Amino acid sequence: MTDEVNPFESLQEQIDDAAAFLDAESGVLERLKHPERVLETNLTVEMDDGSIEVFKAYRSQFNGDRGPYKGGIRYHPAVDRAEVKALSGWMVYKCAAVGIPYGGGKGGIRINPREYSAAELERVTRSFAKELRPIIGADRDIPAPDVNTGQREMNWIKDTYETLENTTEPGVITGKAIESGGSAGRVEATGRSVMLVAREAFDHLGKDIEDATVAVQGYGNAGSVAAKLTEDLGANIVAVSDSSGAIYNPDGLDAREAKDFKIDTGTVSGFEGATEELTNEDLLTMDVDLLIPAALENAIDGDLAADVSADVIVEAANGPLTPDADDVLVERDVAVFPDILANAGGVTVSYFEWVQNRQRFSWTEQRVNDELERVITEAFDELVKAFENNDVPNYRTAMYVVAIRRVLQSAEEAGIWP
Ligand code: NAD
Repeated sequence: MTDEVNPFESLQEQIDDAAAFLDAESGVLERLKHPERVLETNLTVEMDDGSIEVFKAYRSQFNGDRGPYKGGIRYHPAVDRAEVKALSGWMVYKCAAVGIPYGGGKGGIRINPREYSAAELERVTRSFAKELRPIIGADRDIPAPDVNTGQREMNWIKDTYETLENTTEPGVITGKAIESGGSAGRVEATGRSVMLVAREAFDHLGKDIEDATVAVQGYGNAGSVAAKLTEDLGANIVAVSDSSGAIYNPDGLDAREAKDFKIDTGTVSGFEGATEELTNEDLLTMDVDLLIPAALENAIDGDLAADVSADVIVEAANGPLTPDADDVLVERDVAVFPDILANAGGVTVSYFEWVQNRQRFSWTEQRVNDELERVITEAFDELVKAFENNDVPNYRTAMYVVAIRRVLQSAEEAGIWP
């Protein structure tokens, strides 16, 4: 993993790579490489012992041409302006890639949530919600969970917003608990789209997912669900990891048991179903049929890519490969299926949640999963068409060509205000 690559510059490079295959004016393309606005704020919060702490927090609204800004809120000590801007841009192209009517946004607080009590995290979250209130709304900007946030934080944000606005507006945020207006299937949606893209990718490449060996870096929400559902297709999950290290069993780990172990102990290390403990670097360079990076951005840079031995990579995390890594992997004939499609299940079911909130009508989990499968497989077909019809170097550029074209079209139809 490298911290040297600025994720915002990676996003801009990815857009430039696709722009070469699009017939658009340079000024119009330039606009698609920068956020429309970024809120930067300092949350001043009282701790349990009466002391005061200040937390840097951001919300980037990247592009709203196709609909309200949409994207998660991350709690992590490495959150900074460049990361939030990059993540908000990736959301624009993700929503466009799967054809849902949203723009892109993203937020984050620079905090290590493990160091704070639940009461302190609630005050931090409500303080951020108060800052966000003027710029969010069901038709304006709709946050969601991301790394280290989940239903609990979404419920707090919804409650703060509704209390201050003196209304009920569950569609102001997605990823809520079911009883607070959440959707069936939302928790598993990101991992489910990763599984669907892996299934479609293996089919498209003429490979068999059954008995395929799989390594998963990052065993949180996205990674553990992707592992479990890919295992259900008959694949063999041989290695998984989290920030404390990796575990391996050449005969396969039980994905559900490994998750239960992590829930009980806080880590996958020490899981009795493993035969060996490895480093994350060992996992990323392991000779497997499928590698699923599901932790954070910049997990694989150009140097590490030279040692990657997987045949196929399906990106569950946002931005896990640097542009240099992409170049090396093209040379080495590793097929990479990009984040903006593979992890789009999360935002797609967020969209279904928002639709249900607006209709005040709940769908069954089966309906959610069926609609998700339709959206992802249709987007996969568009990806393959774009890959075959343009002389693009990889699937990422093909997906960006589809997504940018859609954003450009709506911008063109709206016209430019003086
Ligand atoms: P999470 O907090 O549930 O899990 C993250 C996991 O990664 C944890 O197990 C953590 O220990 C592990 N990790 C952190 N640093 C690591 C490292 N250096 N090596 C190995 N493991 C490491 O977060 P999540 O929601 O699963 O998100 C993971 C990725 O998926 C992020 O890039 C996120 O933006 C992306 N994503 C998540 C969703 C969603 O709905 N949850 C949607 C789209 C994209």
